[in-house]
Amino acid sequence: MALQLYNTRTRAVEPFAPLDGETVRIYVCGLTPSAEAHLGHARSFLFFDVLRRYLAHPRNGYRVTYVQNVTDVDDRSIATAEREGTTFEAVIARFYGSFKASMRTLGVREPDFEPYATQHIDTIVDMIAALVADGFAYATDDGVYFRVKSFPRYGALSHRNVDELLIGARIAENEHKDDPLDFALWKFAKPGEPAWPSPWGLGRPGWHIECSAMSHELLGEPFDIHGGGTDLIFPHHQNEIAQSEALLPPHTHMANVWMHGAMLNFDGKKMSKSLGNFEPLSSLLQRHDPLAIRLLFLQTGYRKPMNFTEDAIGAATSGVEKIRKAYDMLAVSHHPELEGQRDVRVAELRERFFAALDDDMNTAGALGVLFESLASLNAAFLEEALGVLGIGDILTRELAVAAVATVDPAIVERLRAALGDVVAINGEGPEGAIARAIDARNAARKARDFALADRVRNALAAEGIVLTDGKDGTTWTVAGG
Ligand SMILES: [Zn+2]
Repeated sequence: MALQLYNTRTRAVEPFAPLDGETVRIYVCGLTPSAEAHLGHARSFLFFDVLRRYLAHPRNGYRVTYVQNVTDVDDRSIATAEREGTTFEAVIARFYGSFKASMRTLGVREPDFEPYATQHIDTIVDMIAALVADGFAYATDDGVYFRVKSFPRYGALSHRNVDELLIGARIAENEHKDDPLDFALWKFAKPGEPAWPSPWGLGRPGWHIECSAMSHELLGEPFDIHGGGTDLIFPHHQNEIAQSEALLPPHTHMANVWMHGAMLNFDGKKMSKSLGNFEPLSSLLQRHDPLAIRLLFLQTGYRKPMNFTEDAIGAATSGVEKIRKAYDMLAVSHHPELEGQRDVRVAELRERFFAALDDDMNTAGALGVLFESLASLNAAFLEEALGVLGIGDILTRELAVAAVATVDPAIVERLRAALGDVVAINGEGPEGAIARAIDARNAARKARDFALADRVRNALAAEGIVLTDGKDGTTWTVAGG
C-alpha cells in the first residue's frame, strides 16, 4: 500500500502523490505571533513536521517545499504595541522568537519558507487589484471587501452553503459592506496605525488574503497540500479558496489536498485566556519533557480531538524512558554487528510501521510497532523509525549535551596546543572548541587537504572525541562514554 491521506476537500481518504510527481508543495497557515503560542499550536505544527519527514523519507522519496507564514500585523499586535509604547515588529519578534525556540525544543524542523505578510505587500495588493478588476471585490469607506455572492462555490470546503452560513453564523452587521458574509481584503489605517500604500488608500492586508497571495507567490496553483487546524476551515480556508480560485481558470483548485489537525482541549475545555486554562507553550515546556509531549501527540491520531491532562503526560513519560534506554544502548556503544541486520522479524516490523503511516498518517499505530521493536534492538530500524517520527533529533541533541558534560574542560587548552596553528580557539568552552575543530576539518576536506583533515580528526580522537559524518553534517560522541 502506498501513502493515503484524508482530504477535507473531498471528504475521503485518497492515495497521495505530488502533482508533478517529484516535489510536494505544502502551505500550512502559521502563527499570528501577537501573543504567546499554546500547546494546541504545537500539536498542529508537530503533526505537519512528521508528515514532512515521512514524505521525504526514502519510502516516499519526494522533495518537499514547506511554507509556513507569519501573520505579523493584525489588530492585536497593533493594540499590544500601542499599550506597551513599542512597535508591532517588536511585539512580533518577542512572541515569534519564543515560539521558534519552543518548536526547536520539540524537534520541529524549520520551514523552507517563512514569509512575513508585511514583506509581501506588493503581491497582496496585486491580488486584491485583480479581484476588484474582475468584479469579485469592492472598495468602501473603511477598506476593500470580497463579495462572497460573486463566488458560487463559497462554502464547499466546509460543506455549507451561503444561506446556511447566513442563518447559522449570526455575523454582526457591518454598515461598510454590502453583505454580512463579505470579508475584508484591505483595511484602511486609522491615524497612528502602521500602514502601506495601495490604490485604494493607506492600510494593511486582511488575514485571509495574505495566505492566498503568499502561497501563490511561493508555490503557485494548484499546490499539493494546504494544512492547518480544523478551526481554520471556516472562515479562513473558505475565504482563501474564494480569493485564490476566483482568479484561477475554471475547475482549478488552489490546493489539491486540504489537511486539518483536530483541536486540543485542556482538562476537557477549549484552551482560552478567559477560562484561565491558558498556559504559554514556553512555560509548559519548562515543566514537561518535550519528548513526552511529542510522544503524547503522536499517540493520538491527528484527526482526533484530544484532551491534554497532567496524567496523560505522565503516562507518555514512561514510554519515553523505554525509547531513551534503547536508544542510549544502541547509540553510545556502537553495535556494528546489528547495523544492517534486517532479519525477517525486523522486515515485518518495518513493513507494519510504514503501513501505519501510509494509513492517513496513523502515528499511533506506528508508535505501537516501534515499542514492539524495542525488544529486538535493531539499530538501523530504530534510527529510521525515530527519524521519521522526529524523535531522533531530540535524542541526538540530548546525547550531545550529555557528551559535553563528560568532556574534560582542559580539552580547550590541549586542542589549542595541538591545533592552534590551524584553528583559532579563543574563549570557547569545550563544546565550542570541538565545533571549531570540526569546522576546520570540514574546510580542509572541502579543500582536499586530507592530511590536515586527518590531523584534526586525530587530535580530537586523542581526546576521545569520535566523529560521525552524516548527511546533515558532522556529529561527535565521546568514545566509550
Ligand atoms: Zn492561512
